[in-house]
Amino acid sequence: MTSLPRPDKHSPETLSFPSQAVHAGNVTDPGSGAIRTPIVMANSYGLPEDASTISWSGTDVPLYTRNSGTNQLGLQAKLAALEHGEDAVVLASGVAALHAVFFTLLKSGDHVVVGDVTYEAIYRLFAELFPEKYGITATFVDAADPAAVRAAIRPETALVHVEVIGNPTTKVTDIAAVAAIAHQAGALLSVDSTFTPPPLFRPLEHGADLVVHSLTKYINGHGDAMGGTVIGGSDLIRRIKSDAMVDVGGVISPFNAWLIMRGSVTLPLRLAQHQASAQKIAEFLATDPRIAFVAYPGLAEHPQHDVAARQFQGSGFGGMMAFAVRGDAATQDRFIANLRVVTSAVSLGHDESLIVHVAGGADAGPRVAYYPEDFRVWGHLRFSVGLEDAGDLIADLRAALDATFD
Ligand SMILES: *Cc1c(COP(=O)(O)O)cnc(C)c1O
Repeated sequence: MTSLPRPDKHSPETLSFPSQAVHAGNVTDPGSGAIRTPIVMANSYGLPEDASTISWSGTDVPLYTRNSGTNQLGLQAKLAALEHGEDAVVLASGVAALHAVFFTLLKSGDHVVVGDVTYEAIYRLFAELFPEKYGITATFVDAADPAAVRAAIRPETALVHVEVIGNPTTKVTDIAAVAAIAHQAGALLSVDSTFTPPPLFRPLEHGADLVVHSLTKYINGHGDAMGGTVIGGSDLIRRIKSDAMVDVGGVISPFNAWLIMRGSVTLPLRLAQHQASAQKIAEFLATDPRIAFVAYPGLAEHPQHDVAARQFQGSGFGGMMAFAVRGDAATQDRFIANLRVVTSAVSLGHDESLIVHVAGGADAGPRVAYYPEDFRVWGHLRFSVGLEDAGDLIADLRAALDATFD
C-alpha cells in the first residue's frame, strides 16, 4: 500500500488561485504515467505485508473506499488548498457534508444557533429531526444581525451555523462578527459557503471553524455530479472523517470525485463570468417596472450590500439572485414558461442558467415565515445566472416579461 505521491513539479502552496485550480491535488499516475489522476474505481487497496498495524478507521492511506481512495484524496487536497484550510473531507452530497458536521460535533442536550435563511434540508434537520430524534435544540435567528445571534446563545450552545449568502433570499452574514460571538461563548462556527466559493470568499480566514460546500453547485459547475465537502483544521476534519465518513458512510463515488476535480479546474474563470453577468442582469431587473423586487448583494439597495462589499473585498457578489415579477403565483409560472434560454430546474451554480419558483403566501410553510415581506407577498424566483452571454440572458428575460404582460 502506498500513499499518493506528492506532485513534485508543481508546488501548489506557492501558486496563485487559478494555477492551484489547475494543479492542486492532481498527480502523475505512477503506474501509467498519465498526467491526470485516473479514475480508480477499486473498492479496496492492497494491504502491507503486516496488516496487523493497520487502523481500520484510518483515512490517510488508501485502504477501502469508505475510508479513502485515490480520487477522494486528490479532491480533498485540492479543496483544502483552494479554501486555505489544513484538511478537507469529501462526501456524497452537500447535505451529507452538513450532516457530517452536525453528527460529529453535537450530542443530546446541545443547542445550536442557526441562521434563519438556510438550505431547506438543514432547516428541517434543526426544526424537526434533531429535536425529535436526538434532543438537540435549535434557535433560528436573523444572522445578519450579530446582536440577535448573541442574544440566542445559551450555556449549552455548542455550535453556530450560518450561510454566507443565504439560500434563497441572499441575506448576507458578517462571518467575522458571528465568529467572534460564537467563540466568546465557547461554541464553534460552521459556515455553508456554497454561494461564495473561493476565490470570492474564504470563511476560514474570517474566523469560521469549518466551511461546507455543496460541490454539486459552483465547484463542479457542470450540473453532472453531486458531492459535498467540509474544510477546516486537521483535528476537526479527522474527527469528521472517522465518525461521519467511516462510520456513517456517505462517501462520494470515485467517478464523481473525478468529475468535480475536472470541473473545478475552471472555477475562477466561471465564477468571474457568473458574477459579471449577475451584476448586469440584477441592474436590468431593478429598472424594469414589471419586476416586484430583486435581491442581489451587488445592488446598492440590497439590505446587506455594505457588509457584503466589506467582507468580499472587491472579489464580487456571487451569481445568485432572487426576484419576483409583479403578480400572483400563476404569473410567476407564466413568466418562467415564457423563458427560452433560462431553464426551469432546481440546483444552481451550473453552466446553464437555472430558475425555480419558490412559493410565497400562506401555504408556503414555516421556513418561509422568516423571509422578507416581498418574498412572502409575491413568492419568488431563485435565479442562478449561468455562463450564457449576458446579453442573451437579458434579452430572454425581457422577452418573457413582454410575453407575460402584453
Ligand atoms: C444545494 C445546497 C446544499 C445541499 O447540497 P446537495 O449537494 O444538494 O446535497 C446545501 N447548502 C446550500 C446553500 C445549497 O445551495
